[in-house]
Amino acid sequence: MSAAPLIGEALRLSIAAQLAGQFKGEIIGPDHGEYEEARLVWNAMIDRRPGLILRCTSTADVVAAVNVAREHGLPPSVRCGGHNVAGKAMSDGGLTIDLSGLREVTVDPERKLVHAGGGCLLGTVDAATAPHGLIVPAGIMSETGVAGLALGGGIGWFSRQHGLTCDQFVSVELVLASGEVIEVSADQHPDLFWALRGGGGNFGIVTRFTFAAHDFGPMMRIGVSLYDEEHAAQALREYARLVPALPRTVGWHAALKHDMPALPFVPPELVGRRVVMLFSMWLDDAEDPAGVEMIGRLCDVGEPLLKASTVLPFGGAVQHLIDVEFEDGHRYYTKEAHVAELADEAIDRLVDFWADMPMEGEVEIIGLGGAIGDVPEDATAFSNRGYLLWLNFAMRWDDPALDGEYIGMTREAVSGLKPWTGQGVYVNMLNFDEMDRVVEAFGGPGKYARLGRVKAQYDPENLFRANYNITPVGAAAPAPAPAPAP
Ligand SMILES: Cc1cc2nc3c(=O)[nH]c(=O)nc-3n(C[C@H](O)[C@H](O)[C@H](O)COP(=O)(O)OP(=O)(O)OC[C@H]3O[C@@H](n4cnc5c(N)ncnc54)[C@H](O)[C@@H]3O)c2cc1C
Repeated sequence: MSAAPLIGEALRLSIAAQLAGQFKGEIIGPDHGEYEEARLVWNAMIDRRPGLILRCTSTADVVAAVNVAREHGLPPSVRCGGHNVAGKAMSDGGLTIDLSGLREVTVDPERKLVHAGGGCLLGTVDAATAPHGLIVPAGIMSETGVAGLALGGGIGWFSRQHGLTCDQFVSVELVLASGEVIEVSADQHPDLFWALRGGGGNFGIVTRFTFAAHDFGPMMRIGVSLYDEEHAAQALREYARLVPALPRTVGWHAALKHDMPALPFVPPELVGRRVVMLFSMWLDDAEDPAGVEMIGRLCDVGEPLLKASTVLPFGGAVQHLIDVEFEDGHRYYTKEAHVAELADEAIDRLVDFWADMPMEGEVEIIGLGGAIGDVPEDATAFSNRGYLLWLNFAMRWDDPALDGEYIGMTREAVSGLKPWTGQGVYVNMLNFDEMDRVVEAFGGPGKYARLGRVKAQYDPENLFRANYNITPVGAAAPAPAPAPAP
């Protein structure tokens, strides 16, 4: 298989003619007024110029776009929220299928089902479910795409109480490489249903998810405590000690922040300061006395500069708290690891890195456990369910001249933590310099081979390879996807 051809003017015109009358969305080439905006993704390190962007508005549009891709030998990149750190959403010179026109959400409150279009953002879904007192467990900020997040797993605020986003799949409408539209569920194409829960965008394009929703809120009780450099390690030690015994009705995360944003509970004198933040949330009734007691207790840990507990609307406020820190258009480098043990020495190293780090952003420690581990390891494609904590370095800056230095510092910090990190890596966070870890991210050779057999059944020619690719078993190694490192 050869590398994907770039799309020149002649091919663009020929595709536009082929789509005339059947494609209702936007056909966006380099001379289109929306091209410059349409080619942007979250991470400003990614600067790619697709030959053609097909912005779909319906399943029929996606079918037409996939048919074009297949007939012209153009392995498409697929864009939902554009949050993939390595820029997998955007093709360089080839075809991008943009799903931002598929953002319809309908809620069936009786059956507690949520139908969400394949281009939805987390905030789109939260806004639709909140009026019904329901949530679909997803991530921790509103602008991440549902599809990219859910197909790779989906870790977030509610994971301890209800599991991953992919654990909420009831069924999925999928456009296959052949252009056929199928419904996938535990009863229909069960092998594919297994693979879609963690196997990423390898098997087709999801045009609609049906999720199981859960009663919640809309109000959430949260607690925050902030620590300066002198008291940070002590607080994190307490955090590490308490985490294993917490009930699953509590989520508790730590963030080592370069500068504290002006959140509602932060007094002006702490805005902009380098602080460690412990953030707790009660994942049940906000007025439950047990929650009031628990959140109060977690806020008391160590010697905080500030502690505050409050009740906020989940979808309308909590899910937006970190949007400002991770807005589109900055340069980002992220690196993650599962935490095997948050030992004192590991905490000291983290604090040392944080205290000196010149770049903005934060080091996050996300509490896992609870319902994530209720699902057996081989029941879905998602792997490494057993960890209690997840570590993510989310670094941000604006000057391209600093790329090498800041990326190098981050890599060094993560590799210094090796004695305390576990096996595997979360597939949704694989960066451009970790493409040699794809098999590991999909659970190792055994699980990867099983995924490869499913892939061979549903995408034997590996049309969908501009992603963290699963090679169809029996096929030759694919040509590299048309998406080079920045
Ligand atoms: C600021 C930020 C916060 C994050 N927070 C969390 C978090 O809380 N929890 C968490 O688990 N992860 C989180 N992530 C990681 C996130 O899960 C991945 O970046 C994921 O890829 C984002 O999905 P997207 O749709 O926005 O990505 P995109 O870049 O649009 O797409 C990524 C890939 O997903 C696939 N894809 C997208 N849509 C479809 C579709 N409809 N059908 C088939 N394949 C599709 C394609 O292969 C595509 O290349 C975060 C990332 C960022 C940048």
